[in-house]
This record gives sequence, C-alpha cells and structure tokens, in this order.
Amino acid sequence: MQVFKEIKPLRAFLKDKWNNISIGLVPTMGALHAGHLSLIKASKEENKLTICSIFVNPTQFNNPSDLEKYPRTLNSDLQLLEQTGCDIVFAPDRIEMYQNASNLKFDFGQLDKILEGEFRPGHFSGVALVVSKLFHIVQPTIAYFGQKDFQQFKIIEKLIEELKFDIHLKRMPVFREADGLAMSSRNMRLSEPERKKAIVLYESLIASKKLLTQGISISQAKEFVKQKWESIAGIKLDYFELADSENLNLLETVTGKSVLLIAGFVGEVRLIDNLLLNE
Ligand code: AMP
Repeated sequence: MQVFKEIKPLRAFLKDKWNNISIGLVPTMGALHAGHLSLIKASKEENKLTICSIFVNPTQFNNPSDLEKYPRTLNSDLQLLEQTGCDIVFAPDRIEMYQNASNLKFDFGQLDKILEGEFRPGHFSGVALVVSKLFHIVQPTIAYFGQKDFQQFKIIEKLIEELKFDIHLKRMPVFREADGLAMSSRNMRLSEPERKKAIVLYESLIASKKLLTQGISISQAKEFVKQKWESIAGIKLDYFELADSENLNLLETVTGKSVLLIAGFVGEVRLIDNLLLNE
C-alpha cells in the first residue's frame, strides 16, 4: 500500500502507472470502522486500483467543537487499510486541500436546505466542495458512498449529474453493530451509558416502520418517536421525517419509494440514521 500526502505526486503516479484502468475511490474522514471497510472491499472487487482518501474536511463542519472533537486515528486507519488490501491512501493536510480560505459555495436548492441542511447550514456545500476536489484529483471510475449518509448520497448524485463528472456512483448498505446501531466514527465519542442509549435511533426507525405498515399515519409515528425520545434523559431529537427516496421531498404518506430519516444528540454526540421502507 502506498500513502500520498500531496496532490502532485499522487497525480503523477496515477497517470504513469494506472491510466485507463478502473479506479475505485472511497472518500472518508478516517476513524475507520467495518462500514468504511465494506466500501473498500466492494471497490477492490470491482476495480484494478482502490484509493481511500482520509481527510477531516473543515468546510463541512458548521460546529467548531464537532470539528475539533472529530476522532483522528491515522495510524490505526492505515493498518486497517493495509489489512483490507487498499492500494493507495490519499491523506492530505488542510493546506494541501485548501491553500487559501475558499469562498466557493454550492447551492442544491431544496435538497441542501432540509433535514441535515436545516440543522447543519453550509454542511453540504462543504461536502460538495471537498468531493469535487477529490473527484478532480483522483478521477475515479467508480466512487463509493454509504447509505448511512443518505442525503449526502443524493447531493453527490446531483453533483455528478450537474458537473458532468464521468464517474459511476455506488451506494453501499448501512453497516450496523450487533444491536442495530449504525456504525459511525462518532460512536467512539459515546460513553458506555450513552452507547446503550444510542440504539434509540435504530429502534425509532424499526418501530415506526412496523407501525406504518400496520396503517398508522406518519404524524402518529412522529408523535410516537417524539415521546420515546422525551422519555430518555440526555438525548435530543433533531428530526424524524418520511421522505421520497428519489428526491428527498418530505412526505405525509408512505409511497412505493419512501425513506425514514432520523437525527439527534446522544449526550454531545450528534448521530444520524435512516431506513428504506421498500428494501
Ligand atoms: P465518513 O468517514 O463518516 O465521512 O464516511 C465515509 C463514507 O463511509 C461515507 O460514504 C459514509 O456514508 C460511509 N459510511 C459511514 N458509516 C457507514 C456505515 N455504518 N455503513 C456503510 N457505510 C458507511
């Protein structure tokens, strides 16, 4: 496995050795877990060369303390990637990616104003900016993103379509802990009691799915979830919504392509999850 920290040598390497072969890119912010590694494994199966980027992207954090406390575990990440058979790691520093403070902004209309966009203003503009940079630097054949960040996936889909990136986008399923909690780098920040409480996200999704299939309305499901969260100390619900899984328009009734999305704080750690109702 080779590790690059600068763009120029990475580009020269890709051009010389790997031109016209299939390249898989897995963008991450590090603190890797089995969910990330499932993306690496998928890329390895489908490409000649797999590149994992590790960069905690400052422009997508609207909360300075979240950025500061985001786990950074580069050494163990590199070990995990080596064991998984990743070919290249691109781990730039902040200066390499943003020489000057960037004012470039993206506007995806309604798509970046709802759900995560409402609670994390500017977040998706930062995501689109860094992913555009990574796409230009690496020029992958296939880019792998997780369903765990469902709205982010929709943003990347739009980005590829609007900017005509010649990249195939793949959505990978949510990897979960044994009790159902979606794997996330932020889970590392949970205390033991918080870790137990964090299952409330998945439980809310599963219970609501069941209730919705039994015929209750989405407003009743929302009330059920609200009360569930209010009954547990030290957690705070940001949103629980039903949306169209194609365009993320919020829905009042379940359709043939619906997704439930949830976000909230467990202690000081903000977690998200989602469940497709038709899969
Ligand atoms: P992150 O490092 O959190 O930015 O995530 C990097 C990529 O891994 C994104 O495409 C995420 O959607 C994906 N990812 C994060 N957690 C999971 C998970 N539990 N299962 C599958 N993919 C995930």
